[in-house]
Amino acid sequence: MAILEPVKLAGSTISKTTLHNEDFIKEKDLKIGDHVIIQKAGDVIPEVVQAIKEKRTGNEKEFVMPDTCPVCGAPAVREKNEAIKRCIGIECPARNLRNIVHFSSKAGMDIIGLRLCYY
Ligand SMILES: [Zn+2]
Repeated sequence: MAILEPVKLAGSTISKTTLHNEDFIKEKDLKIGDHVIIQKAGDVIPEVVQAIKEKRTGNEKEFVMPDTCPVCGAPAVREKNEAIKRCIGIECPARNLRNIVHFSSKAGMDIIGLRLCYY
């Protein structure tokens, strides 16, 4: 996810866009602090088209995908033929929540009306 200075685009204010995965960031040579050109893909989802390299000051920073999960601290691993790193922590709260969301989704058990409560 890219966090942007809010900008008006085609009738809405955009303050974040997807960066898809690590390969996308490298392919586009995007750095933290870059000025970027964005567009709405299919007039709905905002996406980064490219960095404006002429506006770089030298203060931009290379993005490095973390080797550990920011939630539980377990290793984050990128399997062969996968585009993203995944936490391998068995007791990771973020993984567990994601598993529950998937379990109850249309593609999972097709549950209607599941409510998650935090204590
Ligand atoms: Zn984790």
